[in-house]
Amino acid sequence: MGAPLDRSATWPYEDGEPGRFSYARADHPTGVACEKALGTLDGGHALLYPSGMGAVTTVVLTMLRSGGTVALAEGAYYGHRVLFDHLSPWSVNVVEFDQTGPPPAEADLIFLEAPANPVLTMPDLGAAAAHPAPVVCDATVATPLRLRPLDHGADVVVHSATKILAGHDDVLAGVTVTRDPALQERLHLTRRLTGIVASSDTAWLVHRGLQTLETRLARQEATARVLAERLATHPAVTAVRYPGFSFLVAFDVADGEAASLVERAIQVIENATSLGGTRSKLEARHRWEGDRIPTGLLRLSVGLEDRETLWRDLEAALETISPTAPR
Ligand code: PLP
Repeated sequence: MGAPLDRSATWPYEDGEPGRFSYARADHPTGVACEKALGTLDGGHALLYPSGMGAVTTVVLTMLRSGGTVALAEGAYYGHRVLFDHLSPWSVNVVEFDQTGPPPAEADLIFLEAPANPVLTMPDLGAAAAHPAPVVCDATVATPLRLRPLDHGADVVVHSATKILAGHDDVLAGVTVTRDPALQERLHLTRRLTGIVASSDTAWLVHRGLQTLETRLARQEATARVLAERLATHPAVTAVRYPGFSFLVAFDVADGEAASLVERAIQVIENATSLGGTRSKLEARHRWEGDRIPTGLLRLSVGLEDRETLWRDLEAALETISPTAPR
């Protein structure tokens, strides 16, 4: 059942005192209903934010002291690196590390991504949990249906709910989930004081998306798996990155020029950024991420369209760069 949409910003006091809801920057009923559902999925207490980056900002402001070092998974969503660099005037330091192994000793906060977008490596959660620093895991691409990082020692899970949780490319949202009541209280305080709080409309859309998450993920993942297998045998494809689950595939073509030809040739798949929506999307990530990503890397987010229609679209686009085609 969906939660009622209550757009109120304030609620009357009860017997002269604030009741459970008094001012929406603290909490609102639609948000709390959505957070309950999100918390159940990840096995902890959830908080909703107006974007994934809002969630990450709240985590850093709450869990890192000035002068502290974030150890960030190499190849994780590039916006995390850009955000941490942007916070350098507040003495936030960042080091990147290979998340398939242990985090560096100097880490004060460990930031993993499961799997990393777009290189799709999986973190060694056990090695991270063995480090004394708290562990945050962005599990946007895995979803709580495939991985619950809190079960593997992570202290906080982060999601961009903009992606497959909401699932329809019509809302920006972010989530944190933790099992630690004291940490939950501190995250909530930061959220309330900074005002990084999702609107009730946002909460309603995320909550509605959750109702079809399992079905969407199952279909998108089944299609992605087959497309990844077929891409791996295509002569124009030099590498396929696929962790064996999820709706996201990354594959490499020869260079930036070839990637650009594929981007412009696709007809059914949208040439657009983002991932996890009902419509398939493909883009070359080098334009955003520069040298940390190969020039020919294309990220494909598989949607709900017919599998064979998607494959024909990819095949036709790859034909424009296959060794036999004129360039
Ligand atoms: N985490 C991952 C893995 C992402 O891919 C993104 C955005 O692409 C974010 C976080 C940031 O989320 P948002 O765009 O909702 O702020």
